[in-house]
Amino acid sequence: MRAITCLHDALITRARQSPQAVAVVEPGQGSISYGELDALSDRLRDRLTQLGVGRGDRVGIYLRKSIDSVATLLGAIKAGAAYVPVDPGAPAARGAYILDNCAVKVVVVDATLADKLGAALEERSAEPTVIAVNGSLVGGAGLRAALDAADERASAPGVSSVRSDPGDLAYILYTSGSTGKPKGVMLSHENAVSFVDWCSESFSPTAADRFSSHAPFHFDLSILDIHVCLKHGATLVLIGEDIGKDAPRLAQLIADERISIWYSAPSILALLAQFGGLAKHDYSSLRQVLFAGEVFAVKHLRALCELWPRPRYFNLYGPTETNVCTWHEVPLPVPPERNTPYPIGKVCSHLRARVLDQDGTVVTRGSEGELCIAGPGVMRGYWALPEQTSTGFFKDADGTAWYRTGDIVTEAEDACYTYLGRRDRMVKRRGYRVELGEIEAGLYRHAKVKEVAVVAFADELAGLSITAFLSSHEAKRPSLIEIKRFCAENLPLYMIPDKFTWFDSLPKTSTDKINYQRLKELG
Ligand code: AMP
Repeated sequence: MRAITCLHDALITRARQSPQAVAVVEPGQGSISYGELDALSDRLRDRLTQLGVGRGDRVGIYLRKSIDSVATLLGAIKAGAAYVPVDPGAPAARGAYILDNCAVKVVVVDATLADKLGAALEERSAEPTVIAVNGSLVGGAGLRAALDAADERASAPGVSSVRSDPGDLAYILYTSGSTGKPKGVMLSHENAVSFVDWCSESFSPTAADRFSSHAPFHFDLSILDIHVCLKHGATLVLIGEDIGKDAPRLAQLIADERISIWYSAPSILALLAQFGGLAKHDYSSLRQVLFAGEVFAVKHLRALCELWPRPRYFNLYGPTETNVCTWHEVPLPVPPERNTPYPIGKVCSHLRARVLDQDGTVVTRGSEGELCIAGPGVMRGYWALPEQTSTGFFKDADGTAWYRTGDIVTEAEDACYTYLGRRDRMVKRRGYRVELGEIEAGLYRHAKVKEVAVVAFADELAGLSITAFLSSHEAKRPSLIEIKRFCAENLPLYMIPDKFTWFDSLPKTSTDKINYQRLKELG
């Protein structure tokens, strides 16, 4: 296949080759073909251009996941802008902060949310042009109707899609920042296309594939879902938030929609294995299960692989700043005695990796250090945060910029990396070095433990106190004595948490990861 340079080239090419093929499905509601998706995104491109959007601008997307939102992001990049997907489920003030922070020229909004967002934007004195879309219409009809209405007021002359340069921004994804304000990770067309091409090489998708779209669009997992799928002329099956967290309904949907390539954070896969009733359905179409974003506790991975023995499993690792940068195929079956997580694997072929100590010196193989990444997949920087951008990178003697992931790893003889934890999750207790992830791994071995997150708090007397937040599979949780005895049997004394706090289910972020920030606030 001809190499593409702009992210939107793939759709344009596919729409020419197979206009009738189904591009995106809203399960049980509607679908759109490649030809129609190309045409609808062209119409939005024309409208955006008429509104003054051009190369180098930003377009906000404040829509629930839908065919409208897929067409919107494609229309934005065709107009030369970077798309900025904002979580419509988060407080409007947060959305307004993001849209104002990167100064979007236009924002495409679900009509039912327009007033709230409008008020929050006004408070910031931000005045982007708003295109309101009726989110209850399906199959792209909401966006089409909004464009029809705009055409009635003033026509938008047809223009050509912008030929973006590799360094032009394709999208900005906002992640939570350590300062408490979201920070915008700037990803260029080159970043995106190099990643998409690596996915093609590694997973060999075909036009017959049906990709899940489980992650929200403001999460970097969506880049693989949307853009790899469209590049290969496959079908993207959109999974909304309601079904996305409901294991039995999701299990049914994966079977009914004949998903062949699944990609999500591990937490929902663990839920599917436990509560999805997977044994009831036919998953003969499923050929690859990709997961990323956090450690997949081996006991849940094992349970899943036993219920779904057919597909291949891949552990993908990477921060939003690089998208996926290492990967590992899980060898099946998962042996019963294994309880340590699988490695995050080898560096992806389009990137380079190094493990560095605090002084920036490469460590010897097998020693711990921070994983640093260079290559065309690495972000351009953080939006309007030059200081954080410059501390996020270091330049080596030949001028190569290496992104510091903040993750501590070791490299094995076979060049596979093992993830040990965040740089910032390493604590010292009574002089001992403690990885909070190690305590979590220890507690996960308890048969009744479903989820665990361990947090260190500053303590006036002891210097540091450690709390384990847990949830259980069973209504009758282990007693304090039982869990302490278990810890004493499984962890060094200095790693035993001071406090154990039980939840029915641990709080989650909008991207379905355990919400450590929230737990830290619970103190
Ligand atoms: P995000 O930017 O939201 O994708 O979060 C990135 C962080 O999630 C990384 O820096 C890691 O700490 C963690 N992470 C991502 N993928 C994995 C994985 N496969 N295994 C363990 N941790 C992961």
